[in-house]
Order: sequence, then C-alpha cells, then structure tokens
Amino acid sequence: MNVHDSERLAGLLEEAGYVRAPEDADGDADVVVFNTCAVRENADNRLYGNLGRLAPRKASRPGMQIAVGGCLAQKDRDTIVRKAPWVDVVFGTHNIGSLPVLLERARVQEEAQVEIAESLEAFPSTLPTRRESAYAAWVSISVGCNNTCTFCIVPALRGKEKDRRPGDILAEVEALVAEGVSEITLLGQNVNAYGSDIGDREAFSKLLRACGAIDGLERVRFTSPHPRDFTDDVIAAMAETPNVMPQLHMPLQSGSDQVLKAMRRSYRQERYLGIIEKVRAAIPHAAITTDVIVGFPGETEADFEETLHVVREARFAQAFTFQYSKRPGTPAATMDDQIPKEVVQARYERLVALQEEISWEENKKQVGRTLELMVAEGEGRKDGATHRLSGRAPDNRLVHFTKPEQEVRPGDVVTVEVTYAAPHHLLAEGEVLAVRRTRAGDAWEKRTAVAAAEPAGVMLGLPKVGVPAPLLAATSGCGCD
Ligand code: SF4
Repeated sequence: MNVHDSERLAGLLEEAGYVRAPEDADGDADVVVFNTCAVRENADNRLYGNLGRLAPRKASRPGMQIAVGGCLAQKDRDTIVRKAPWVDVVFGTHNIGSLPVLLERARVQEEAQVEIAESLEAFPSTLPTRRESAYAAWVSISVGCNNTCTFCIVPALRGKEKDRRPGDILAEVEALVAEGVSEITLLGQNVNAYGSDIGDREAFSKLLRACGAIDGLERVRFTSPHPRDFTDDVIAAMAETPNVMPQLHMPLQSGSDQVLKAMRRSYRQERYLGIIEKVRAAIPHAAITTDVIVGFPGETEADFEETLHVVREARFAQAFTFQYSKRPGTPAATMDDQIPKEVVQARYERLVALQEEISWEENKKQVGRTLELMVAEGEGRKDGATHRLSGRAPDNRLVHFTKPEQEVRPGDVVTVEVTYAAPHHLLAEGEVLAVRRTRAGDAWEKRTAVAAAEPAGVMLGLPKVGVPAPLLAATSGCGCD
C-alpha cells in the first residue's frame, strides 16, 4: 500500500511540474519526500536518522524542502516538526493530494505546514500516478480497515474502510491495459472485505469476474484477504476466471484459537484450514502463502504447537514469519504475559526450519512442469557462463531461466520447463520453449526509450519510501493484512 502511495505522490508532483531525481540523489534534490510506514519496527528511529542525515545538506542548500507523510506522520503529527524543525511539510495518510499545495505554502510562508485529516471523506480516485513498472500495476480498491486486531496500528492510522466505486476501479484497470499493462494487483488493507462500505457483500467476487472480462488483461492478483471474509463466492470467482492467478496470500498469524482470540482475529483454526481445503479443491495448483506472528503475548508452548500443526497441514508455498514486537498505541503492547525474547527466538527458528522444509518440498513438486513466465525487470543472476533472466510463474513463484537467443523484454512471456528447485526459487536451465512478445513488453520498451531521452534535471528527490522494504514484505510481510 505504501509503495503504491509513493507512486501516487510521484504522479502528483510530476503533474505539478517537478522532475524526478536519480535514485541516489536525495541529498542533491530540491525536494525530498519520506513516505513512512509505522507497521515496521523502529520506523521512527529510522525516520529521524534519515532526517538528521539531511539536516546539514538542507542548511547548505537554500530552498531545499523536506516533506514527511505516511503512517508515522499520521501518528506523530506535530512531534516531527518539534524533533526536526528543518522539516517543511508533514502530511497524513488522508492528505496525500495536498502535498504540492503544502510545499508551495511552506515556501511562500516560510514556515512548516502540518496537515493531518482524521478520516477520508471519499476514496481519492483521481490522483495521478507515476508507476514503477510499465507492465504491472497496483490498483487500490479500498483503504482502511474495520477490524481491530490487537497487534495492529493500521486502523488507528488509516481509519475505517473506505471502498472505491467499482466503476472507478474498472475504468482505471481498462486505462492501464490500454497503456500496455498486463498484470494488476488489487490492493486493500482487507481486500476481500471490499463491498462493506458500498453495501454489497459479493462485491469482491464480482470485481474479480469483471476483471476477467477485460481484454488484454493477462494476470490479476490481490492482496491481502482476511480469512473471516473469505467467502465461497470468492473461491468460485478465482477458479472460474482464467486471468485470476492460482495464488493466494492469506495471513494466518497464529494457529492457536486462544491466541487468535487474544489477537481479536475472528476466525479459528478450523475455519482457516477449511478455506485452504476449498481453495485446493477448486484450484489444485494454487500456491498459498501466509504471514505468521510468533510470540504474541500469552502464547504458550501448546499454542505454538498449534501454529506448527496448521503450517504442516496447510503446506504453504512460503510464509512470512515475524517475531512479535510491541507497537506503541496497540492494545497488545500493554498486555500481560509478554514472552521473553529468547523463547520467541527459539520458537521462531523452529517455525522457520519447518517452513523451509515444506517450501522446498513444495517447490520440488514443480520440477518437470512447463510454465509460462512473465519476464521480470532487471537482469537475471549470472552463474558462471550461463546468463539468466527471471520471471514469475502464474502462481507467483520466482523462476530463473537461461536467457534465450531471441530478445525478451520485461513483460514478455516465455515458456520453460522447470529443472531444479531451491527453497525460494526454481530454475529452468534448458532451452526456452517459446517466447511471446507482448504489448506489455512493447510498453516497457517505449518507457525505457523515453526515459533515456529525458533531460537529466534534478528537482525532485523521491526516495523509494521512508522505511524501505522489499515489495512482498511491504504488502504482505508488514504484519498487517
Ligand atoms: Fe485490519 Fe489487517 Fe490490521 Fe487486522 S491486521 S486490523 S485486518 S489491517
């Protein structure tokens, strides 16, 4: 969600006339924007460390501006300008659209501007976006969350769920496809609760089916669903819509009913495993991934064994595992029975060892399969004389393959046979069986050519996010749904 918000901030500023600075030029840029995440541990230390690093540069560059947005800005508000008075703008999670105006006002009035709205009036559907990828795109369908999981800071900072109108979502997807995008990921804090705000309990499955009817859209994914809202109509829509990929990331958090209750997660082990069984029956090749928190306050050895039991039963393709740590402002932070660090560490290592074993076994089942990969951006890994590229299988597994003679571009589709499995990736070492040049590849080529011809102006510095995280971790590995 934060990565996509950063794309929207970049789009807004570019529309206002700013020019993107090179990736490593934040100290030389005229404007630096930090888009922060409060879910990650130590977010505030890292933010103030980054701001401190920029203070001398700002002092020596009259006119340079620094803005801080995102969840930490929403949480800390005025504290940021008190602790770092050289910051020019602080804007909340509901105030993204105001950034250009706030920068201008700070410049004219020569004083810091702080704008934090308590809630979102309407879904900000019309904000421009500067997408990172030419062939894959995030599409927000809702923001906020109506749940109150006791470890999570999201409801306090992102507010209640606000759904976007289906027509606006589909119009954006169609426009993206017209530009050459062939893969979209529907985004929401609790993506499959979509519809609760617009009064349609089946709105999410209808949206999946509507995406299936869009010509030229090859791959549809979504993140992240909540087990409570995972209804049969969604499973049917996934199974019956060919461009909805056979992949499901569904946070477990704990396998123990006691701990789930303390987390205020309103499903139990039986329901979770029941959903997995139904998904596997309807979509036999689906790769299912999850998030697990180890060492939640009060977690006993027996509770932890329940988590191991679910992990063994569910046979996740991958799991993003986290050691519980307190987040100030959440109910769990003040609960009794916080678990000693060494106990959490030991349980965490047992869980990771088990999941590694399962991931590897599940990956080995892929050896010999013929897969269509969407070629990913960036060069593949070099291994001796063999030059590899990388791609994503329909189930989102990462596959490294031998670069074919024929040119392939990010967004193109290749057909390969899997020859080897490692715990976290697959290899296809033989000849590429087929190459399909796509409109997405054309879009990538066009964008690359335009970028090469752009003047090397440095006005806007937009570091990836204030607290950077790899894409999977930012969306599914941050401890929220
Ligand atoms: Fe909502 Fe997910 Fe946070 Fe729970 S963990 S409150 S479902 S965003």
